[in-house]
Amino acid sequence: MTYDNENIFAKILRGNIPNDTVYEDEYVLAFKDINPLCPIHVLVIPKNPFTDASDFNSRATPDEITGFWKGLEATLELLEIRDGYRLIANTGRNGGQEVPHYHVHILGGCSVGPMVSRN
Ligand code: AMP
Repeated sequence: MTYDNENIFAKILRGNIPNDTVYEDEYVLAFKDINPLCPIHVLVIPKNPFTDASDFNSRATPDEITGFWKGLEATLELLEIRDGYRLIANTGRNGGQEVPHYHVHILGGCSVGPMVSRN
């Protein structure tokens, strides 16, 4: 999939759309989801353009991959989530991905429920 420079997270990274930043460093931006599904719902995105998990895993440099996951961990430490959390990377149509810039959801502060809806 070609990266769409006009996707909403690309606009957030360019500063064209505001966000509620939780954590930022050279590799990642972490911000609150605009439509939270748990009391804590934060999105962690790489600063460079990757469409989804597979694009990131196959094309990102080792430094970008390490930086992403270290940034996600730094975000988790700031959030001080009690009693666990769930990380979700929706990927592609069947995965329910809406925004075509790779992101990992951090969900916490509630019981997240079953891993997969059977409906
Ligand atoms: P996904 O379905 O995994 O692509 O998730 C995209 C997420 O982005 C959804 O949970 C949306 O609520 C969230 N979202 C969309 N626009 C914004 C925005 N401007 N600021 C923060 N979160 C957003």
